[in-house]
This record gives sequence, C-alpha cells and structure tokens, in this order.
Amino acid sequence: MINEDKRLRKEIEASEKDIMGSFPVLFRKMKYVTASVGWHGIIYDMCAQITKLIEEECQDLPEEDLPYVADIKEKYGSLRVALYNATDNMDSVVSQAERLSETACELCGRKSEIKGQGWLVNRCERCE
Ligand SMILES: [Zn+2]
Repeated sequence: MINEDKRLRKEIEASEKDIMGSFPVLFRKMKYVTASVGWHGIIYDMCAQITKLIEEECQDLPEEDLPYVADIKEKYGSLRVALYNATDNMDSVVSQAERLSETACELCGRKSEIKGQGWLVNRCERCE
C-alpha cells in the first residue's frame, strides 16, 4: 500500500513538472504546481488554449506583461485558477476549465460530481 502511494505520488509529481515544463511562460512565477491528478488533462488543455491566445493576442507585449498563472488549486470540489494579465478570451478558457472540473473526478478524471457537506470532494464511485 505504501509503495502504491509512493508510485502514485511519483506519477503526480512527474505530471505536474510536465505541465510546468510545457508552458514555461504561463508558470514563470510558480515554483511548483500542486493540482489534483484527475484534472491534469483539463489543466493541460486549458494551458494549451491560453498559450495559443497569447500568441494571437499578446504579440506586442514584453514578457513581464504576458499572462501568468498566480495560483492553481482545488476549492469546494472544483478547480480554481488565478490567471493574471488575462484577456477576456483567456478568462473564458479558465472559466470553461473550472466548469469542466466540476464533473470530473479529482483523482482519476472520470465522470463525477461534487459531494459532501462542509468538506466538499469530487470523487467518482470507484475513488470514493
Ligand atoms: Zn475517480
């Protein structure tokens, strides 16, 4: 069991490093990312769309004025992302990702819903 947890923890860390490494501009102010592993796909897609928008909408900006992720976390069973210097289109992408996470298990990404009272979790039947 401990080994299984360790292995999973390693995968999660690798995947978080992959996300940061794939989008160095977006994560330039973050030392590390801790995001629920079931949402890594949603986060990756969100970052890819924002990166495309940066290329289209921020061509004239110096690097320090480009959008960046200031915070990324789980709150009340769904994903919350603070994207600074964002354009309206980027805000829409972030909102969409946050909405998607409301119906995705935070541990495995399968279809799920937010449950609980007080302490809200988002876990599918298999992960409960
Ligand atoms: Zn699950």
